[in-house]
Amino acid sequence: MASDLLSVIAPIYNEVNNIRLLYDRIYAVMEDIGSPWELVLVNDGSTDGSSEVIDSLYREDPQHIRVLHFARNFGHQIAVTAGMDYAGGDAVILIDADLQDPPEVIADLVAKWREGYEVIYAVRAEREGESWFKLATAKLFYRILYNITDVRIPVDTGDFRLMDRKVVNAVDAMREHTRFIRGMVSWVGFRQTGVEYTRSKRHTGSTKYPFRKMLRFAWDGITGFSYFPLQLATYMGFGIALFSGLAILLVIYLRAFANTVPLEGQATTLVMVLFLGGVQLISLGIIGEYLGRIYNEVKGRPLYIVHNSQGFEPPDARISESQES
Ligand code: UDP
Ligand code: MG
Repeated sequence: MASDLLSVIAPIYNEVNNIRLLYDRIYAVMEDIGSPWELVLVNDGSTDGSSEVIDSLYREDPQHIRVLHFARNFGHQIAVTAGMDYAGGDAVILIDADLQDPPEVIADLVAKWREGYEVIYAVRAEREGESWFKLATAKLFYRILYNITDVRIPVDTGDFRLMDRKVVNAVDAMREHTRFIRGMVSWVGFRQTGVEYTRSKRHTGSTKYPFRKMLRFAWDGITGFSYFPLQLATYMGFGIALFSGLAILLVIYLRAFANTVPLEGQATTLVMVLFLGGVQLISLGIIGEYLGRIYNEVKGRPLYIVHNSQGFEPPDARISESQES
């Protein structure tokens, strides 16, 4: 067991001042664990000099460092996917490069893996240095997702986790373009458990998930795992039909028996028409979102383009294998 290879994957987008410390801390933890290990650094089109730091790390420690340089920025979830495609470990650990996920927790993850669990996700018991707004929206999002999707995605977990080789192979086989990895890992099943940890604040630099991207990510999670938004149109349709049915009866009654003129003026008519127009446009937009996703999948483009890689053996056998599927 102790000779199992452990792969740690860190996606990197403009983290120039975090990479070295990340490497140092991972180095200490992994040497302590004692199994052979590799650190896969996926450079997601960084423009701040991260590439140079990554390359010099590789020259210093080619025994442990593996490098993938993307041809441009493809996004966090895609960078993690590439790392999983290339990593050779019997267990694979996903970790953020900004040191929000303390590398020391990896020891706990590996211990659980040795107990026989196949997915060990790290649950954020506490989060340091995040705005109340991010905390509140994140909390709300994880609860909504849990309630409207069919997959039991654990609440308050990010991508920081350990996966057994069997799980990595299963997730690698899912080539969908809009990727929500924490959901995909829940979807495949296997023996899963959580380990609690305190999420630190970013070491340096700023978040690559501003509000707009957070919304997009949340929406990807919801649409990737549920039809609920599509069903909303049906629910609203029934609701409004029922309401207007009752209103018709009320209007007839008032006209015939109460001898009053119900619903005076044009404003009522106008408001109702605008309201229905709004509901219809929202429904169309939701259909459009799903249609756009279908279009994206149908084009069948590769998920990412690798500019060059270092340290992977045999050199490119894995790539062609993974891109064909
Ligand atoms: N990241 C990436 N590509 C992107 C955005 C982010 O590889 O387009 C990496 C980033 O370098 C970091 C991790 O994904 O290692 C998580 O990003 P970030 O810390 O900005 O997200 P947050 O922790 O604020 O949710
Ligand atoms: Mg972060």
